[in-house]
Parts: sequence; structure tokens; C-alpha cells
Amino acid sequence: MESFLGSVEATVLSFFFLVITFFPMEKVFSAKKQRFFRPSWGLDLCFFLGQYLLWGWLVLWALSSFSFWLDGIIPQSFRTAVANQPLWLQAIEVIVLSDLIIYWAHRLQHRVDILWRFHKVHHSAEHLDWLAAHREHPLDSIYTIGLINLPAFVLGFSLDILAGFIAFRGIWAIYIHSNVRLPIGPLRMLIGAPELHHWHHDLDRDAGNYANISPLMDIMFGTYTCPDHEPERFGIKEKFPKNYVGQMVHPLLPKRVVKELTKPKRKEESVQNDLKQDH
Ligand SMILES: [Zn+2]
Ligand SMILES: [Zn+2]
Repeated sequence: MESFLGSVEATVLSFFFLVITFFPMEKVFSAKKQRFFRPSWGLDLCFFLGQYLLWGWLVLWALSSFSFWLDGIIPQSFRTAVANQPLWLQAIEVIVLSDLIIYWAHRLQHRVDILWRFHKVHHSAEHLDWLAAHREHPLDSIYTIGLINLPAFVLGFSLDILAGFIAFRGIWAIYIHSNVRLPIGPLRMLIGAPELHHWHHDLDRDAGNYANISPLMDIMFGTYTCPDHEPERFGIKEKFPKNYVGQMVHPLLPKRVVKELTKPKRKEESVQNDLKQDH
């Protein structure tokens, strides 16, 4: 009970910390004109609360069991050598290594059907801001966070570096979804910017911009795109539930059921046919 109350407190504090940080930025440097309580704000709040109060534990549990299982793979002498390097060098290594892994892991999320099923939940957001960053299926989070952090855990980087890195990455992921466009010019080629990730969410996207922290991987592998304006619309073209439970369950349904659910209803079909004939 006490730990539940503790996590409620942490959730409320984090929520207000994020509002205080991002609300002024989104007001002053808005990427798009958008109300604070824009459509689907409540749905994204459910994802925020779910992540903090329910699924966060599941993700942590899955990661710690998995890292325990992997522990024996790398010789201890190698891990000690990694942890004995200067901290600045470890920091650079962790960022480059995890950016390389997340780049390819993210490309796979868009290519492999079973991964896209879960990643689609994140892409179903039609409005982006700091809160929309939390729209993520917990199994999609386990895949991403696991791949970002596990190699660093397994190689034995210093815990100071890892803790700092995990916190920084969490905030950065929220920042790149925020409704913000900062005038940083060509610097965005090096350190990344929300507009790059906004294009990744483009409704008419041919994807691109898979990297998270620095876009260097996208530049290297030819998937970098940065038009000088915001995408017209965000989201996915497929029919997708617009409520929390529906979005949590949808990726788990067999293909046959999804097909049945997304089939246009007969009545609609005949209305559409009538309209076609009218033109
Ligand atoms: Zn994606
Ligand atoms: Zn995103």
C-alpha cells in the first residue's frame, strides 16, 4: 500500500514537473497551433498513468530478469576494463552504441509485422506534444528500453553513467514529441530536434528519422529527412481503436479478428457506392 502511495506521489510530481517544463516551451516555440487540451488528451493521459502506475513495474521486472540471465555471457575481466575507462569516454560509448542499436531496432519495428502491431499504438497519435510521447504499448516499451539499455548493462558500464543516461533519454524522448520548434539551425543535424521526430510521425510518411538522440545514424544510413515546415497531419492510415483498452488489446488480436473489425460495414459500403455513382 505504502509503495503504491509512493508511486502515486511520484506520478503526480512527474506530471507537474513535465507540465512546468514543457508548457511554456510549447507556448513560446510552438511547432503547430494547438490547444493544451487537444483531442485525445485524455487517452494519452491514460497512457501516462498506465506507464507510471502499472506497466513501469512490468518493464523494470522484465529488464532485470533478462539482464540477470545475460549476466554470465561477457567475461568479468572485460566488464571491469569497460567500467575502468574515464567517465566521459564511457558516456560517449554508451550514447553511440545505444543509438546504433535503437536505430536498427526502430527500423525493424516498422518492417516486421509482429513488432509493427505494437509500435502502431505509438504512431496512432494524431496530435503530438509532451504527453503524446507516453502513448506506447508496454510490450513495445520493453522491446525498446531493453535494447537501448541491455548492451550497456551487459558490458559493465559504470552505474553512474547508466543512471544519468536513462534519465536523460527519458526526458529526451518526451522533448522530441513536444509541440516545439527551436531555432537551432544546422545544429539539428548533430543533436536532433523535435521536428525530425515529427516527420517520423507524418501520416503520409515513408518513415525516416529513426534515430532518437542524434540524427547521425539517419544521415549515415540515408534515412534523414527535414523539410523546413511541419507535417500536415500525424497518425496512421489504418482504422485503429481510439480508446485505451482497445489500443492495449488490439495488437494481441489474431489477424483474422482485426480484418473482421476493420471491414467496412455493409451500410457504409452501399452509401459509398451510391456516392460514387452520383459523381
Ligand atoms: Zn516509429
Ligand atoms: Zn514517436
